Amino acid sequence: MATEEWRQQWIEAVAKIRSDVSYNESAQQLRRLQQTGLLKLTDLKYNPAKFFEAHRLLARHAPNLGPGFWIRFTVHYNLFAGSVLAVGNEDQVKQLDDIQQKGLLGCFGLTEKLAGVNSGGVVNTIAEWDDQTQEFVLTSHEVGAQKNWISQGLVGELGVVVADLRVAGKRCGAHAFLMELRTANGPVPNVEFGDMGRKTVGNDLDNAWIAFHGARVPRHTLLSRYGEVQPGNGGSYVSRVKGLTNMAMIGQRLFSGRVAVAWAAITFTRKLFEMTREYSDRKKCWVPKNSNLTQVPQLQHLYTRAEETLQKLEAFVASCEKQLSDCLQKDEIPSVALQEAIASAKILASETSIDLCFRLKQDVGSHALMGDTGFEQMDFLQACKFAEGDSRILMQKLARDRVRLTSPLGSSEEQQLTKELQEAMKGGAKVHRMALAERRGMRTLRKFTTWPGWWCSAMWPACVQELL
Ligand SMILES: Cc1cc2nc3c(=O)[nH]c(=O)nc-3n(C[C@H](O)[C@H](O)[C@H](O)COP(=O)(O)OP(=O)(O)OC[C@H]3O[C@@H](n4cnc5c(N)ncnc54)[C@H](O)[C@@H]3O)c2cc1C
Repeated sequence: MATEEWRQQWIEAVAKIRSDVSYNESAQQLRRLQQTGLLKLTDLKYNPAKFFEAHRLLARHAPNLGPGFWIRFTVHYNLFAGSVLAVGNEDQVKQLDDIQQKGLLGCFGLTEKLAGVNSGGVVNTIAEWDDQTQEFVLTSHEVGAQKNWISQGLVGELGVVVADLRVAGKRCGAHAFLMELRTANGPVPNVEFGDMGRKTVGNDLDNAWIAFHGARVPRHTLLSRYGEVQPGNGGSYVSRVKGLTNMAMIGQRLFSGRVAVAWAAITFTRKLFEMTREYSDRKKCWVPKNSNLTQVPQLQHLYTRAEETLQKLEAFVASCEKQLSDCLQKDEIPSVALQEAIASAKILASETSIDLCFRLKQDVGSHALMGDTGFEQMDFLQACKFAEGDSRILMQKLARDRVRLTSPLGSSEEQQLTKELQEAMKGGAKVHRMALAERRGMRTLRKFTTWPGWWCSAMWPACVQELL
């Protein structure tokens, strides 16, 4: 549980974070924050309520700080440490305490120049088992296989790197390696790092491309809770838990990430509306006499609409968080219904926030052009849109899964949309079918946003049935 005392301590600790600093200084802030021990790298599993609350409280600063530090924070706590928790063996999980105490930072290397969003998780970095030296050899055989956009990749001492494992010439699929990326003497041998360059916002965060040129890592770096490599006769891959793959379990991090991103988008929007409201309450209007900008009809309407929408969204995301937290604590994979609900929460929170903040920007006048108003950080929401599974791709996957079902599910409206889509899938070019699937997916989601019952937290389990 996140106690009130802890909340106050965390609020105080994150109030000191600055974004007008170099990425090295920004990284130092995260090192210090984790060394306070207020949020443990293991809290995602043992105290998920604290993990999500910490993300939310940090996101309240996003209209001032931009996305840099928030992304750095969630990459370290969710993607890096969370992957070790999800697929690491006991010894590997134990290392997290040491990492935290020493203030070391980790990055998460999944996305590649020609893989990631497009490929849906396939990676082309290869990790070849060398039975003689009992090491894995990591190689990016072509430029397209180089890691891309890796947050904290220019400062992190450690990385969870996802690569396609080959043992004795056999492909064993994507696996994660907990490896050292740099020591006090600089980057480890045969790993090359490059800066992705300047971004519109969040330049206090380093984003790297990373190329592996035959980098050698020891056997114990393979996160091996679900599968490991046995040396001898060229080596053999041994699955530890039937039916569970390492990659499926790494994918679990995307669920907690999606809930955190949904909260971040909502929290950003709330704070931006709060800051703007303070301004419009103060700004006098000449008519009616003694009125202020808040009373201008279009703003008044927008404030009311935003409040209603955000409340519904918050109730829905809170239900997702609660159910996901149960799964995290019990070490269970969320049901398909919950997975779909979490994906919908992430998409809706990002899209609704973009829409509300854009409208606010249009209606509040010149104020939106000024620095330090929060409007200059609106690309925070852009990051929410593509983080933890690009929203467009997620919508396509939701639509695809629904179309594949043989028995009808959901409301009559949803069933009608699914039927139309199934009809369209019978012919036409693949590109057309994909576009149609996405359009239908968006239409379905939009319908949900105007359906109050679906949002009501008390109704939620029934609503998920509807969603299915
Ligand atoms: C600031 C930042 C931090 C990041 N941090 C990390 C990190 O720490 N670790 C990590 O592994 N990754 C990270 N990423 C990568 C991120 O999660 C996305 O995977 C990456 O941004 C996707 O690349 P892209 O946006 O260039 O998309 P592209 O693949 O170039 O796609 C562009 C657009 O086309 C659409 N599109 C693509 N394919 C299809 C298709 N088949 N059908 C329909 N539409 C399609 C997508 O919706 C997208 O909007 C980060 C990215 C950024 C920008």
